[in-house]
Parts: sequence; C-alpha cells; structure tokens
Amino acid sequence: MTGESPTNTNIAETTNTRVKNCIFCDLIAANDPNTILEPRSDQFVIIKDIKPVATHHFLVLCDKHIKSAKSLQPNEQDCNLLKSMVAAAKQILLNNGCDLNDTRMGFHWPPFYSIGHMHLHAISPASSMSVFNRLVAFNPSFSRLCAKTYWLQRQK
Ligand SMILES: [Zn+2]
Ligand SMILES: [Zn+2]
Repeated sequence: MTGESPTNTNIAETTNTRVKNCIFCDLIAANDPNTILEPRSDQFVIIKDIKPVATHHFLVLCDKHIKSAKSLQPNEQDCNLLKSMVAAAKQILLNNGCDLNDTRMGFHWPPFYSIGHMHLHAISPASSMSVFNRLVAFNPSFSRLCAKTYWLQRQK
C-alpha cells in the first residue's frame, strides 16, 4: 500500500555506494529534478510516495544504501543521519503547509519493510488516512516501539 514491491530485501546490509537492482539507488543516481524535492543534502533525498495514503506523503531516502533503520550503528555519524532525515521530513511537511500535530512519521522495522533501502515515511494529515493505514500499516505504536528500541539499543 506504499507503492513498493516486495523485492530487494536480500541486498548486503550496508554499503556506501549505489546498489544494483535497488529502485531507490537508481532514483537517487538519476537525480531527476522532477522527482527529487527540496531540501536535498548529501545525507538524504526526498521524493513523493507514488501511492500516497494522505494528501501529503513523502519519503526521505537515506542517500547511502543502508538496508533499514535497524542497520544503523550506535555512533555519532548514524545518529546525525537519523536526526537530519527527521528534520528534513518536518521541513518538507512545513513547506507544504502541513500541521505537524496531524502528521505521522516512521521507519519500517524488519520484517515490516518492503524496500531494502532505508526511508522515512512522512504523512499528513494523519487524520485523513484510512482506518487500515491508520491502525495497521502506519500505526504510530509500531513507530514508537521502533524508535524506542532504536534508542535503547544505542544506549547499550
Ligand atoms: Zn516504505
Ligand atoms: Zn538502495
């Protein structure tokens, strides 16, 4: 329901380069100004989800091919990456006049992801989402759980 096919889940965990047969790596490499939105940095790229579940549905892609948020390492570099992706998601929502209090953001957490290239979903208004998307596909408790798990792991 996010416009992603269940492929590319068996790619190597983390690399610093583009990965063959990864649609997000291809998209970043193509660098099409009609696809890639502002703000853009060397850490992330923002695109629109091809199957939006609300009026505004963006994906903040990690510029590097990192398989998932779970692959992040407990170091300053990856924490900064995560922070910059969240800040970018907020920025593009604000640029589009979205209310951050009616917004849903989250990473997929293995095994709940469909494209093996880390991306942050930013959806607004969350209140307009279908019941299924609100309660199942983009349930905030999953995201909260993921975020909590992530930060707890980082503190070990
Ligand atoms: Zn996704
Ligand atoms: Zn990729």
